[in-house]
Amino acid sequence: MIDLHTHTFLSDGVLTPAELVRRAEEAGYLAIGIADHADASNLEQVVSAIVRFCHETGRLYRHIKVIPAVEITHVPPAQIPSMVAGARALGARLVICHGQTICEPVYPGTNHAAITAKVDILAHPGLLTPEEAALAAKNNVYLELTSRYSHGLANGRVAKLALEHGARLVLNSDFHAPGDLHSPGLRKKIVLGAGLTEEDLKQIELNMRQIVDTLFMPGIAV
Ligand SMILES: [Zn+2]
Ligand SMILES: [Zn+2]
Repeated sequence: MIDLHTHTFLSDGVLTPAELVRRAEEAGYLAIGIADHADASNLEQVVSAIVRFCHETGRLYRHIKVIPAVEITHVPPAQIPSMVAGARALGARLVICHGQTICEPVYPGTNHAAITAKVDILAHPGLLTPEEAALAAKNNVYLELTSRYSHGLANGRVAKLALEHGARLVLNSDFHAPGDLHSPGLRKKIVLGAGLTEEDLKQIELNMRQIVDTLFMPGIAV
């Protein structure tokens, strides 16, 4: 299993990065992205801390790869491009944007701004539009299905529009606490529950493997 969107107590998760990674390794994860919430107030602090953890500790795990990521969260759309650039400059290897989930007042225009800024993953896009799905396909932005119960209420819509417009999907946990870790069975249920098929699940797992393989290509330091 691969999970590219998790949180630690560097934002609103409950575990240290070390405990999160160890629990994920024990659960059978092959790779994990640590993507704590950030805005202009804490981008440098959060990304620098995750990068330092990945550099100093990530290499010591035997069975799991650890990816420094970030989730740009509740930032006004006009500020998203500079936040994306800032996150990459600080060393985030995956930049996620907290999309327009139906359960929070995320600023209108956030999905479009994130896709235009070419984030790597648009998390829980909520009431994604066909135009946004098409632009995500064009800009190589992955659209997220999530097991997080509230954000996941729009999974079916996201899955349908992604398939229709050729956008690629990922499936993440949005981990905040130990009960949020995935199992293979849960991943299958979430994908089938979104109206997709077992073939689609295979493609999603392949998409995620490709993201990780690209990040860990020889000569590239994560
Ligand atoms: Zn989020
Ligand atoms: Zn999140």
